[in-house]
Amino acid sequence: MTDDKSLSGPDTAIRNYPTLLRRYANLLELIHRLSSTVHLEDINNQVIDGTVSLLECKAAVLLMVDPASKDIQIVAATNLDPSAYLNRAIPPDTSVAGKVVKAGSPMLIRTEDASSKNPLYEFTAFSSVHPTSILAVPLKSKSGSVGVLEAVDKLHGDFQPEDFSSLEALAIQATAVMDNLRLFRQSDLIAELVHEIRTPLAALATASALLDRQDLSETQRHSVLSTFRQEIQRLNELTDDYLDLARLESGRTRLMVEKFSVATLISECSEIISPLVHAQGLRFRQEVVRDTLDLTADRAKIKQVVLNLLNNAVKYNVTNGEIILRAYHGPITSGKTQETICIEVSDTGKGIPVEGLPHLFERFYRPQEGSGFARGTGLGLYISKYIVESHHGKLDVKSQVGEGSTFIIRLPLIPPGRSTGPLAAGGKQ
Ligand code: ADP
Repeated sequence: MTDDKSLSGPDTAIRNYPTLLRRYANLLELIHRLSSTVHLEDINNQVIDGTVSLLECKAAVLLMVDPASKDIQIVAATNLDPSAYLNRAIPPDTSVAGKVVKAGSPMLIRTEDASSKNPLYEFTAFSSVHPTSILAVPLKSKSGSVGVLEAVDKLHGDFQPEDFSSLEALAIQATAVMDNLRLFRQSDLIAELVHEIRTPLAALATASALLDRQDLSETQRHSVLSTFRQEIQRLNELTDDYLDLARLESGRTRLMVEKFSVATLISECSEIISPLVHAQGLRFRQEVVRDTLDLTADRAKIKQVVLNLLNNAVKYNVTNGEIILRAYHGPITSGKTQETICIEVSDTGKGIPVEGLPHLFERFYRPQEGSGFARGTGLGLYISKYIVESHHGKLDVKSQVGEGSTFIIRLPLIPPGRSTGPLAAGGKQ
């Protein structure tokens, strides 16, 4: 084990046999509970609460490496309000977690040591806790360190070798449970996809049976062929969207972050959507604050989101409707000096029923399916939100039936914890 202070010492395992047995019984019970938990947030909370009770320490922090951005983020911490730390990147060079992720091995950090130059970002930035010792172990998967579990200050005495082995056992188990949960989600996604595929397949089966009939008029034959084309297109879109989503969620997609001009991006999107807008007889306007609208993000992915929103604005619009594409500097979020860039797509279309709004970003959700609305996969908004959140941004919607909808992408000028320049990233848990 790589550590600032060695954990070696008298073998308390032999000294304190009954206590140790009790601890392992508790560990087994905790592992059993973890294995039957199906919500990630509950797993995270059980891990930190379990750490505190098992190691008899004052606090615990669980941090995960976001496979999308490679940022390290706190996902659960005892005695800390989640609003303080959620979606905030921990700098890898000035934190205990960063050191452990890089080393891929456990560490014991003693902060009272005058010679210690240990950076403790996750403690100094978010809480008034001044730990004297931190035992930190990595959560490891095949691809390397995916997180860090930190135990803070023993209630009595120092961390002992059995604290290290208990924490490591808990980290191994937590990683396995999280991996299983991810696999469950993937199989859920596949099950949903198969369900979605059944509708176009049924339509194709009916259409092919119709084509066999001798008494079919030319008009009817055209109509059947048009069904064929539409359903095949739908199957293609479903496959493309599914692959896109599966890649994002598995962490195999890497965000290629670079600094770029939002105005140029907006012009490109306008050009791409123009033929569709004109074909539908819609009006289109773009409003961009031209100067200093630079953004650091994955350009191609942000373009994909804007185009998806523009496509929807066309698809769900009304005759003579209008679409407005805007880009502007957003407000500085209170409490955090975070400047944002907003890209807004407004339409004067059909709007979304109020009861549909809370579910709009769920996968395969199509509130007006089958009521004369344009067809789609129901994955576009889910993927868009996923991409925006991978950039630490937000995707919001305002809509009123009969009046239209406005989708707002809010992105930090630079993703937290990152400087400019290209960087590699992956998908999200
Ligand atoms: P898709 O358009 O392929 O169905 P999306 O995830 O992009 O999938 O959108 C999900 C649903 O949200 C759509 O089916 C539609 O009912 C609704 N929706 C999205 N954008 C708009 C919009 N601009 N106006 C009205 N409804 C919309």
